[in-house]
Amino acid sequence: MDTGTSKGHFIETIIKQDVENNKNNGAVVTRFPPEPNGFLHIGHAKSICLNFNMAKKFNGKCNLRFDDSNPAKEKQIYIDSIKETVTWLGFKYGEPFFASDYFDRLHEFAVELIQKGKAYVCSLKADEIREYRGTLTEPGKNSPFRDRSVEENLDLFSRMKNGEFGEGEHTLRAKIDMQSPNINLRDPIIYRVKNAIHPRTGDQWCIYPMYDFTHCLSDALEGITHSLCSLEFEDHRPLYDWILDTLETPCHPQQIEFARMNINYTVLSKRKLQRLITDNHVQGWDDPRLPTLEGMKRRGYTPESIRSFCNTIGVSKKESRIDVGLLESCLRDNLNERAPRVMGVLKPLKITLENYPDDLTEELTAKNHPQKEEMGARTITFSKHIYVEQDDFMEDPPKKFFRLGPGREVRLRYAYLVTCKDVVKDKSGKVTELICTYDPETKGGNAPDGRKVKGTIHWVNADDCIDAEIRNYDRLFKDENPEKDGRDFIDNLNPESLVTLTDCKLEKSLENAVPEQVVQFERLGYFCLDSKDGTSNHPVFNRTVTLRDAWAKLARKK
Ligand code: ATP
Ligand code: MG
Repeated sequence: MDTGTSKGHFIETIIKQDVENNKNNGAVVTRFPPEPNGFLHIGHAKSICLNFNMAKKFNGKCNLRFDDSNPAKEKQIYIDSIKETVTWLGFKYGEPFFASDYFDRLHEFAVELIQKGKAYVCSLKADEIREYRGTLTEPGKNSPFRDRSVEENLDLFSRMKNGEFGEGEHTLRAKIDMQSPNINLRDPIIYRVKNAIHPRTGDQWCIYPMYDFTHCLSDALEGITHSLCSLEFEDHRPLYDWILDTLETPCHPQQIEFARMNINYTVLSKRKLQRLITDNHVQGWDDPRLPTLEGMKRRGYTPESIRSFCNTIGVSKKESRIDVGLLESCLRDNLNERAPRVMGVLKPLKITLENYPDDLTEELTAKNHPQKEEMGARTITFSKHIYVEQDDFMEDPPKKFFRLGPGREVRLRYAYLVTCKDVVKDKSGKVTELICTYDPETKGGNAPDGRKVKGTIHWVNADDCIDAEIRNYDRLFKDENPEKDGRDFIDNLNPESLVTLTDCKLEKSLENAVPEQVVQFERLGYFCLDSKDGTSNHPVFNRTVTLRDAWAKLARKK
């Protein structure tokens, strides 16, 4: 499968040079290293595309590695979901790797550090460690336990491992430099006691390695050549290099940082997404309004559109906020090509064709795609009673309203020209039905006398249409930056991010709809069957995206 080619960027330039210089014998091995403490979001897609594409481009390989060294927050369901999502995005990996598979090796490395006099067991409490660490402007102070002998450290560390101490009583720290201007080098903790059941190693361990220790060594053990990570790890690079320089490791991967993806009108952080879910602002990790890949999949996003977006935005060292309009435009481009056209009426208004025979049902042919003959055609039915959109009728329309109004004629897509003769109203004065006539000479939509009818509207046959619920999604937040001026993003939620329409009428062919396979409802937008809610009698469809960007139009008006 074509997973897209990235635009040339600085990381590609570095890797290309390394290959040309035969560094690592010309090999390129990258990895995507999620922590299984949540579901993947579109930001992760950037990292996935980057790592897999670089491997592909230079005939290398990319590992999927679970960075599962913090058992408190990690769960099997996240591991399963992440595997599925990477595959769904279109990338192939061999057997996945797990940092927890290296726990024995990491433990040996920790012992090696102690033996080299480069690590010590510290018995300061957490708040004391913090106090001794100093600040950005003040240097730290040495721990009183810093000069413990190698023997004492080995003994204490092995007792930590054997479960003789409680959480927080002792930690293992790298012995680097408490005066370093880089706080990450001020004797960072590399192992701590944690009495937790690990999803994969169970109760085998009660000490766990910290992220910074685990990550560089896992990279080295897997023979990673280029360890691509986001910018917040730039200040951790000296520690990454210190650990690999100090220990005897199979290789020394090169860490290269790039800017995280940010998108406007949303938040991209598992912690923030978790809060939206826990506080019931959305309905779960796969809520179609969320930027999680599971949510986007359920909403109807295609892997191609997400890859194309990631490749379009490129990779740089500069943080920026990307317009969600660009993501939607990548989606529209892809759906326009592949989505079959169908008809659905969101807010139905009944029409009775008074001159149409009572029990006639005609079969009409409708193209599945206006430009793509190869997508074929389907049969739709037509009868005396049909539904059109309430918005396609006005009782007192302006001149340029080329739809229905008293005395006005329109074309029903693929069917006939019809003219509105009368309206039926309920007691409150609301129009409940239109009485129209059809012109039997105009089958297919053209008048033999050549009279011009400008408007074409969509419709469904009232006799055999399907009742459905439609969920119209909009941006989750009202402002481009939901956290502008330090405010809480919860206060910026868009109350209209979900508008549910319960009385929709869809053409019969949608009985065969498949979840997540997007169709275009002509004139309205792209929609797909929801994979979770609804029944076969009353399906639920999600609006994936509108046909045009309504927000861009609003912005132009401002
Ligand atoms: P979050 O803050 O959402 O929890 P994370 O970085 O902690 O994200 P990880 O599971 O550790 O999540 O991420 C796996 C990989 O994905 C890392 O290499 C990380 O740098 C990358 N990544 C995460 N978010 C983004 C983003 N918004 N843009 C680019 N890469 C990202
Ligand atoms: Mg994280």
